[in-house]
Amino acid sequence: TRAENKIHTYTILNPYRVRPLSEEERSRGERQILEFPGRGQVICSSTVAGQKPKVFSYNVVFEPAASQEDLVEYSGVKRLLEMAVEGFSCTAFCYGQTGSGKTHTLTGPPGLAQGKPDCWRGDVCRGNGSPRYTRIERGASPYSQEHGLVVRSFVHLFRLIHERPESHFVLKASFLEIYNEKVIDLLNPGTARKPLQVRWSKESRSFYVENLFTVDCEELDDLFAVLEEGMRNRAVGAHAMNAHSSRSHTLLCVRVRRDLRATGDVTCSTHGKINFVDLAGSEMTKKTHSRGKTLEEANNINKSLMVLGYCIAQLSDGKKRGHIPYRDSKLTKLLADSLAGNGVTLMIACIAPTRSNLSETINTLRYAARAKKI
Ligand code: ADP
Ligand code: MG
Repeated sequence: TRAENKIHTYTILNPYRVRPLSEEERSRGERQILEFPGRGQVICSSTVAGQKPKVFSYNVVFEPAASQEDLVEYSGVKRLLEMAVEGFSCTAFCYGQTGSGKTHTLTGPPGLAQGKPDCWRGDVCRGNGSPRYTRIERGASPYSQEHGLVVRSFVHLFRLIHERPESHFVLKASFLEIYNEKVIDLLNPGTARKPLQVRWSKESRSFYVENLFTVDCEELDDLFAVLEEGMRNRAVGAHAMNAHSSRSHTLLCVRVRRDLRATGDVTCSTHGKINFVDLAGSEMTKKTHSRGKTLEEANNINKSLMVLGYCIAQLSDGKKRGHIPYRDSKLTKLLADSLAGNGVTLMIACIAPTRSNLSETINTLRYAARAKKI
């Protein structure tokens, strides 16, 4: 059985999030063109006079005033983390044009993204070799308001582990970037000149990256260190290339092994994981199409993003048993087990609220509405 032959596929939620107008947009006199009448609806007013506004419906809508905390509470990511702990392969990714708030949603604003919550001082609770949970002081919020989904998820993951003292956990994290179909290790940039290979493992029946640096994370601080180190290396690597971050995908993966002690000396283990993916700007796929390029030729622009789009389109067409082209790009290979088979994917569609972004916004709203059917 190949990964793509597995049957069961679904996403749990595909919320979308509209960012607020920036100061700069306000000063230019830009207005928000979207309305939120409730019941998961978004109304997108048309630029053409007399033309009807477009209405889209979703599971969850995060309006511009929604906080980072709201996102973690109501996007479904907490359920994903529980599933990772239970042995499923999960993915949370942000989709949207450059400047729509993908990185903000995942990691927070630049600079803060790398920082960790303030009050992670406290007692270490676990004594059995599992990753250790550092208790939050009661009443104190551990976060800056702007800490994103990834940092908050790390903390929640440790809470979940803490709540399961009967099990022993082993966490391993990796952080990579896919740029121009080359896999670059963000934790071991020395290998960047020699991109890593994606291979199929018969044993685990999934794709993996050969020689990818993996960090054992015994404490929450170890996960923060992975995030920080990867973000820093990405910024350094980005120097050489204009608009690098809008053209590359980053994938931070936390593998969660759980050993359940059954009767006597018997131990059974589950192997779950959660991927956090900051996708390239969605305008890249459109550029590809407008030049009339085929999938092969699109290689240089952004094959992974296109193929992800094809996979989602296929999955949403109800062809769950048919051929899904996971093997056609690096990103979809690495996400195959959570898109199909043994997993759940959370797709957060990010939207910029202004008129000048209208056509990209409509594309993203369509893409997101399509994924809802999976
Ligand atoms: P992307 O990663 O999609 O290119 P960014 O996350 O870099 O977009 O966001 C673009 C700008 O908008 C950044 O300056 C970011 O701080 C700001 N921004 C994005 N989303 C929000 C939000 N929900 N609240 C406040 N500022 C935001
Ligand atoms: Mg970004």
